[in-house]
Amino acid sequence: MAPNGDSGLSNGLVQADSRLPRAASDYPQWLERQDLAEADLPYMHRILAESFADWQEQSEGFPWPYEIPIYLLHPDGSVVSSLGRGTEDPPSALSDWSPDLIGANAAAAAFKACRPMTLRADEHTLAPLKAFDSVAVPVFTRATGIPCAALACLLPPGEAHAVEMKLLQAAALHFRSCLYKRFEMMFVRDQLHSNQLSNREELRRDMLFEVLRRLNDHIDVESVLSEVFNILEQLYPACRTDLFLSQDYNSSNERVQPLAFHQQEMDICWRAFMESAIREETEGARRRFAFPLTGKQGVYGVLLLDVSGKRFEEEDMRFLRILTGAAGTAFEKAKLHEQSNTLIGELRLINELTKRLNSSLKLSDTMKFATDELLDIFKADYCFILQLDRMNGHFVVMSTNAANMESEKFSMDYGFCGVMLSTKEPIILSDYRSAAPVGSYVMDVTQSRSLLAAPLLLDGLVTGAVMVTHRLPNHFSYDNYKLLQVLSAHLGLAVSNSSLHAEVRRMVITDNLTGLFARHYLNERIQHKQQKDSYGSLILVDIDHFKQINDTFGHQIGDAILVQVSSIIRSAIRDTDIAARWGGEELAIYLPKLTMEQTMRVAERIRMRVEEETNPTVTVSCGLSEWSAADDKISVESLFYRADMALYSAKHKGRNNVAVG
Ligand code: GH3
Ligand code: MG
Ligand code: MG
Repeated sequence: MAPNGDSGLSNGLVQADSRLPRAASDYPQWLERQDLAEADLPYMHRILAESFADWQEQSEGFPWPYEIPIYLLHPDGSVVSSLGRGTEDPPSALSDWSPDLIGANAAAAAFKACRPMTLRADEHTLAPLKAFDSVAVPVFTRATGIPCAALACLLPPGEAHAVEMKLLQAAALHFRSCLYKRFEMMFVRDQLHSNQLSNREELRRDMLFEVLRRLNDHIDVESVLSEVFNILEQLYPACRTDLFLSQDYNSSNERVQPLAFHQQEMDICWRAFMESAIREETEGARRRFAFPLTGKQGVYGVLLLDVSGKRFEEEDMRFLRILTGAAGTAFEKAKLHEQSNTLIGELRLINELTKRLNSSLKLSDTMKFATDELLDIFKADYCFILQLDRMNGHFVVMSTNAANMESEKFSMDYGFCGVMLSTKEPIILSDYRSAAPVGSYVMDVTQSRSLLAAPLLLDGLVTGAVMVTHRLPNHFSYDNYKLLQVLSAHLGLAVSNSSLHAEVRRMVITDNLTGLFARHYLNERIQHKQQKDSYGSLILVDIDHFKQINDTFGHQIGDAILVQVSSIIRSAIRDTDIAARWGGEELAIYLPKLTMEQTMRVAERIRMRVEEETNPTVTVSCGLSEWSAADDKISVESLFYRADMALYSAKHKGRNNVAVG
């Protein structure tokens, strides 16, 4: 019969008819062919007793004239029930109701012979029965014809018991119909229950199939999570469900909570997570299950289901096991997908940075690009790239999107940069307001609460720092932190390369001895100015009798004089003027947008200061020239030519002189 029926009844022996009929109208005939079978034996006592009670109810008026009971016997010889006076208070001879005792009467013979039997008093082998005759009628199963019970009674010894036998046979027939009515009732009930179960099972299977399909469709973590909640709401609307995630994952779904191990309440979740197995907790009326969300690479979280007061069966357990397994795998897949997306983004950025580095070596360009990219990647409010100036003992802001913060300087040991300079480690801070390890001007001014920072390193030495901040707390994730670490290595290289490049360029355009610009750079600059400006002037400075200085004091002192004169020139001109070593002991100064009158004053000042400040004392002669947009011919050569001519005339006038060309 039904595999999970309550009664446990089975018609396993009636093989041919055990399958359900196709048409509902065939059901009554089909049911009639169903019969008790061996598998029903454990429940026989119960069925027999219930059927006997039914018969008893219906047999009012049954003409049983004797004051003696009718016994219902099980095929094993035991008495199931009895009817009639004296059953509650059996005759003393029958007070010891043992199967052996009863089995030795007509019922035992009837079971054996498969027909009604009468046993005379002297035919009884057991002493207490020798005072009675016994009569028994077997009750046969309807399809298989096996005796499944017997009705029997003990009678005073007499001639014949034909009437009693007839009455017992009628009673047996009636009892049999009561027995089968109850059997059919139980059979149908079992069938119904089994159908209900299989319908529910089918529904669950369909649902599971759909769930697995839907979970597999999602490649973002948020969708997987909301899908899990949807399914649980549909299936267990009355149960409270909570999802705890162990990963560093900020879900927008407010029902997702972080797995906190310190809470007592979380104990069951913690165990499910650590042991990667379903854990159950029953506390009074409260019953909860914790299902781990397990993927191939680990456990991602725990689903907590409160089933207190609800029906929760083995089937639900199996279903949830499969669901949480699938959810774990889907979550893992989605997470891996997100991670690979992040990695792709990371590689793209590194690639872009490197490309930038190759195409533009100008430090400010590289830093501006990096600032914009970092703001975008980390969805940050502010970004700062700082360079460490060890000579002057401070970090200087090279690039930022924060207003008025560019070129801002911070002492080497101040703030987060100071921390990174000593630890060489990156920093992640979830809330500056609630837990600030150090004071930070950057955080204060920008009113930021979240911070990610990393040192820029070259050969293990801190060369700078990068910081991204956000005004909200808990903005940056651990993944962000790891990404910034990777990016800062590339950024550090970019900064160093750009600085090196700047240094090389500085060396190329600078004269080694005097620190003034080199001749080719001056040429370049004048050419450039002549294209943009409308006028400018040039001073050529030549040290008088320098050959003699060399001859008198030696070349080293000669060199020192050159340095002295150069530094006087540098301090006598504006930042925008360009002083260069033109060659040997001749120096040249280009003065953009300066009139001849002003230029003469500058030259005169230089001439006087050289005479006063040099040691050993030297003098200089200066040749001046100017150009304006109105000139016929504008060129660097003609400007120098005229200055050279003027210098020649200054020398001619007796040296220590200024002449205009
Ligand atoms: P004048 O007043 O006509 O300019 O005389 P002068 O001796 O300065 O001119 P001259 O052109 O005859 O000599 C220039 C000297 O400058 C020759 C060279 O030895 C010296 N000189 C050129 N470059 C350097 C240098 O880098 N270091 C030193 N110590 N001397 C240099
Ligand atoms: Mg000279
Ligand atoms: Mg000279």
